[in-house]
Amino acid sequence: MIKPLVLAAGLAALAGTTAFAQSYPTQPITIVVPFAAGGPTDTVTRLVARAMSEDLGQNIVVENVGGAGGTLGAARVAQAEANGYTLLLHHIGMATAETLYRELPYSATEDFEYVGLVTEVPMVFVGRSDLEQNSLEEVIEWAKTEGEAVLYANAGIGAASHLCGLLFMNAIDTQLTPIPYQGTGPAVTDLMGGQVDLMCDQTTNTTTQIRDGSIKAFAVTVPERLDSLPDLPTTAEGGLPEFGVSIWHGLYAPSGTDEAIVARLSEALQVALADPTVIERFADLGTSPSSAEDATSEALEAKVRSEIDLWRPIIEAAGVYAN
Ligand code: ASP
Repeated sequence: MIKPLVLAAGLAALAGTTAFAQSYPTQPITIVVPFAAGGPTDTVTRLVARAMSEDLGQNIVVENVGGAGGTLGAARVAQAEANGYTLLLHHIGMATAETLYRELPYSATEDFEYVGLVTEVPMVFVGRSDLEQNSLEEVIEWAKTEGEAVLYANAGIGAASHLCGLLFMNAIDTQLTPIPYQGTGPAVTDLMGGQVDLMCDQTTNTTTQIRDGSIKAFAVTVPERLDSLPDLPTTAEGGLPEFGVSIWHGLYAPSGTDEAIVARLSEALQVALADPTVIERFADLGTSPSSAEDATSEALEAKVRSEIDLWRPIIEAAGVYAN
């Protein structure tokens, strides 16, 4: 039998949590971006955060915690207090790091609550603007000849740019020299400056630079051409029929966060993703917001689990690990 005093204490604690959840949020929220400022994850986060903060009636601060391919920022949120005031906006790396890192200081399936999917973004193969090559076929030929002399920028092991580069090097059976950054924001700056040769990054970080000619684009990594860059062939058209990768972003809270708070965050995310300005800005950057059905806890959890299973054998076959 449960003692009345224990029961009373339990009920009081429950009432406390519910009251806390009902008044949430009463202070600014921080969303950790596990990459440098100015990159694609940062751009997506800032657009969504602005619209979410209007719905929540609280400021949202974006904090960039780059390094180790996104795993430092993710670890920081896994260890944060589960009170709804520290969140994480991460991409496909949440699933791929599970295999790329033999030792990871968190678990994507145990240390987070899932708020919802945010967007799915294609990637593009880009190069410095003064490269002589004008097509993916020519880039492949050049990369095979030059090998490790080709400097390939990425955001570290676990980043989408790393994954894309890994698949590319495997597909052409050639090792290039990876140059890691804390995010592809600074990487694209160096690509524009000609310090590195090639990169694969989300359209959200490259569309403007492709259009103004400050970088060269060779192919998009999804099966169909994009409305935003209609002249750009797909990787399949460019000679890599098996190649495909699409990047998704999700919003997370530390595990143990009150269910009512997570539900409130999912609701605010859905409102933000239906915001006309967000839709318009996403379209300019070659993407679109996730649907209301996908901006849910269930959809993000299913995505994380299925993508861990999808990428594990591919990464194991490539035999590339961070540790
Ligand atoms: N999108 C980049 C990558 O995964 C990281 C970033 O957002 O800066 O390579």
